[in-house]
Amino acid sequence: MYCEGCKRLYSGGTRCPSCRRPGREPLPEDLVVVCDRPVLFAEMLSDILRSEGIENMKQGILGAGLSSILGMQAEKVSILVPYALLEEAKEIEEAFFAGNFPEEAGKTQTEE
Ligand SMILES: [Zn+2]
Repeated sequence: MYCEGCKRLYSGGTRCPSCRRPGREPLPEDLVVVCDRPVLFAEMLSDILRSEGIENMKQGILGAGLSSILGMQAEKVSILVPYALLEEAKEIEEAFFAGNFPEEAGKTQTEE
């Protein structure tokens, strides 16, 4: 299910576990949060995604409630992509943070 309020996917139940808003099936153009990262990494990941042809948006997490949940990590940024590109974006994100080096993650490599 997809929450329009949180821009996140969740499974189980028909209401968002975070905000209790009723969810719905995601549409290809729905923006979905790929990950939350510190500002610096979010900027790098955003550039990499764009260079891979994946349009994306950055959204700062500034809510007081959220920052206490995240343990004072207020300076985090969410990266959002259209649902249709989510899997691709996740793969790039994982490669990026596994390699931990922007130049390496910029290369397109198929592992399967
Ligand atoms: Zn929600």
